Amino acid sequence: MKTLSAVPAVHTIVTACALAAAIACAGRQVKLESARGAASPAITATDLRTRLYIYADDSMMGRRVGTEGNRKATDYIADEIRRIGLEPAGDSGGYFQTIHPDSTSRFSGHSPPGTARNVIGILRGSDPALRNEYVAIGAHNDHIGIRAQPVDYDSLRAFNIAVERAGAPFWDRRIPADKRAAVRATIHVNVDSLRRIRPAHLDSINNGADDDGSGTVSVLEIAQAMASAPVKPKRSIIFVWHTGEEAGLLGSRWFTDHPTVPRDSIVAQLNMDMVGRGEVVDLPAGGSNYLQVVGSRRLSTELGDLVEKVNSEQAMPFKFDYQEDTDGNPNRIYCRSDHYSYARYGIPITFFTTGLHADYHQVTDEPQYINYDHMKRVAELVSDVALRVANLDHRVVVDKPAKGTTAACVQ
Ligand SMILES: [Zn+2]
Repeated sequence: MKTLSAVPAVHTIVTACALAAAIACAGRQVKLESARGAASPAITATDLRTRLYIYADDSMMGRRVGTEGNRKATDYIADEIRRIGLEPAGDSGGYFQTIHPDSTSRFSGHSPPGTARNVIGILRGSDPALRNEYVAIGAHNDHIGIRAQPVDYDSLRAFNIAVERAGAPFWDRRIPADKRAAVRATIHVNVDSLRRIRPAHLDSINNGADDDGSGTVSVLEIAQAMASAPVKPKRSIIFVWHTGEEAGLLGSRWFTDHPTVPRDSIVAQLNMDMVGRGEVVDLPAGGSNYLQVVGSRRLSTELGDLVEKVNSEQAMPFKFDYQEDTDGNPNRIYCRSDHYSYARYGIPITFFTTGLHADYHQVTDEPQYINYDHMKRVAELVSDVALRVANLDHRVVVDKPAKGTTAACVQ
């Protein structure tokens, strides 16, 4: 998810904590799992884990747009969808769509070839009359790269957890001084004991396991499951892994401005960004049935209703949290991930996320803190919603106006 500019970086507070502690710090105990590629055609927690340990590995170097790490990451996605058998839907008959953002953006576009590209594939629908309409499913393939200065990993993780348990949102500097001191003392006690058993571990790579490795591998698993199912949906499904989301929704803006299928043939877009956390340790409202849903009724009441209906039919339905979807919410989540690039053109969207957490945009956003069973259920829900929309006898009805492509996003 794109940074909200008003949010201060937590590491500026962390450096004041010196060496902190050991609370629930698993470290990087599990490196790459031995199996390459995902074995089962179904969406499984095991396959999601296998894929995410590959995708959020240090070798991807934080996947920042315009870097070699992003090239490697997008190569992995393209190799997988070729193997799965999706139709290429990028530039010139390939899976990649190179983006050329303007020079006013933070990423200027002067990047080596192959380092700024969307990855796009299509699962062709079965109905001759509807197969040229599309349901889009998306995630973002990039993250924020490598920190200029390494940080003490255990300290950061301990800080994040301690502050969360103290009941303060991680960006909130209004924590009372006494509470802050108590938290700091807890961190010090723990780090002292930890340092007796192991040395400090410095880390500078933002692996982005949740942001948005989780969405990226979930969309891969959805594609694999749909492609291997005996019955294909009536409409086609277009899968788009956008680049440059972290630099300002660059890839999704490029794709929707320069779509490789007719723009008005896209009947809806479902976006997954940060779908691997959502437990109580991550946010106070969290839990095993926790899921945030944003934007589902902002253009289409029917789509919003349908997402709820499909959820109610799941074996274990989620309890949707619509708090982040309220008008005027200062977190502006509706404006901060790729779905908005579609919505501005009047394409109805739904954004699924398990929410912001203390490891957001930190080197501690790593695969060992992901809840793979939870993530599997989110992927199954999104897949089922996509199939429902794809099999409707009509396009989901857009009954509210789009804001247009020139106005700034207002939530
Ligand atoms: Zn992000």
